[in-house]
Amino acid sequence: MSAQAGCRYGCTHCATTFARTPFVRNLQAQEIVAAVEQVEVNVRAEQGPLVWVDFAGVGDAAANWAHVTSAARTITGRELAHEVKVTSIAPQAWVRSLLKPQVWLPNRFMFSLHGADAAQRRVVIPRADDPAAVLPLWATAADLRPVVLNYVLCEHNTRPEDEAALTDLLTPYAGRFLLLRLSSFNPVQGSPLRPSTRETEFIAALSSKLTGWTVAHHSSAGRATAAACGQLRASILQLGTSADAVTHGID
Ligand code: SF4
Repeated sequence: MSAQAGCRYGCTHCATTFARTPFVRNLQAQEIVAAVEQVEVNVRAEQGPLVWVDFAGVGDAAANWAHVTSAARTITGRELAHEVKVTSIAPQAWVRSLLKPQVWLPNRFMFSLHGADAAQRRVVIPRADDPAAVLPLWATAADLRPVVLNYVLCEHNTRPEDEAALTDLLTPYAGRFLLLRLSSFNPVQGSPLRPSTRETEFIAALSSKLTGWTVAHHSSAGRATAAACGQLRASILQLGTSADAVTHGID
């Protein structure tokens, strides 16, 4: 599910960033619920209620948290889905708000890491916090709910020195997070990022060096279906393919 129509975060691996209207507005809780209802009717007929709703669509749930939490409570309260997951760049202020007593929490999280230090993380997420500062907070959240760390595999963050930097960063947190998910990059039009040519070596190195961690590889099914982050929305807004871009003079 999407939390917003567009997004202000400007991640460089996401087609939303390169759409003609990168941000429009936050979605209202009732709009989110209505979208889930529409999906749920179709799925229920074939396989029963939804197992989960995952806020991993366009926009970041953290940036529209009041409406997302209201929608999520309705979704689970009315048994439209059993569980709610939230994917986010997980800014410090938002994570701190989750750690207050008695706040509503989803069933699980996925937080976007994408770099072993602040400069490297900001190549993908321009507004990202320093991983060294935010990881202790993320680990505390992981004591409350299972948290997956996602790391998109690009040319700039899978060099041999990045294996050591990421291992050093994450080793103190062994056993705290559900897993480290290494995700193949699905290129989108306009993105300056390039897929890694060292994926296999990088995955093997992290899997052997990160003692006490579960390391998983998520290959990009999205490449075949043009379903990278924000790609569907960009397509609806006629961002077009590379060939279209030449035709219409977009570069
Ligand atoms: S990846 Fe998510 S948070 Fe980043 S710009 Fe795209 S929708 Fe926003």
